[in-house]
Amino acid sequence: MPSSASNPGHQSSLTARPRPPVKKIHPGSVGFDFDGVVADIGEAFIRLACENHGHCSISIEEISSFQVEHCIDIPRKIVESIFDDILQDSLGVGLKPMAGAVETLVRLSRVADVTIITARPDIGPVQDWFDFYCTPRSRGHIRLVATGDHDNKETFIRQCGLQHFIDDRTLTCLQLAEAGLSPIVYTQPWNRNQHHLPSVADWDEISGLFDFSAAEGQG
Ligand SMILES: [Mg+2]
Repeated sequence: MPSSASNPGHQSSLTARPRPPVKKIHPGSVGFDFDGVVADIGEAFIRLACENHGHCSISIEEISSFQVEHCIDIPRKIVESIFDDILQDSLGVGLKPMAGAVETLVRLSRVADVTIITARPDIGPVQDWFDFYCTPRSRGHIRLVATGDHDNKETFIRQCGLQHFIDDRTLTCLQLAEAGLSPIVYTQPWNRNQHHLPSVADWDEISGLFDFSAAEGQG
């Protein structure tokens, strides 16, 4: 997700067009970031900026940096307040799933355990979110991990036995690639033209990464 953290976004000198992953991947070998991949934090941010703070002219395309205050004209304190509200009560602020995310995660959970690894410090609001959006059966196959740090996901991804990871933060994906893992960038306005890694545009493309017919046939 975008943030108001002070860590500057990494701009790769390689700006070749992102490419899609080519080979089908095993459903159990991939993990997912939460904000900006599973949950539509861009929509929530823009809505709360208007409803709670009177900043009603922001478009999602304007958010061209993970550090939101670098690209839109809103005081940093308000940016931080909006993200605090989303992180503390995700369901309460109406944080929605990205289109197709819940359906694909539920389908994946029928053939493999699903792992979500978020940099959030507190996993509770994410647990509440999944409890609301998923059936108890699916929820039992979705593991939720909070790292509390944007830059330490590699350790948790390895502990969970994953090879692939889908995230919307460019620097995270570049770090994982350098560490020998296989990141896939979930395309958002704040990561465009910043990398040359494999990418997906939406959950239709994520669904297309998996060979469901083989996996479901095994079940
Ligand atoms: Mg994210």
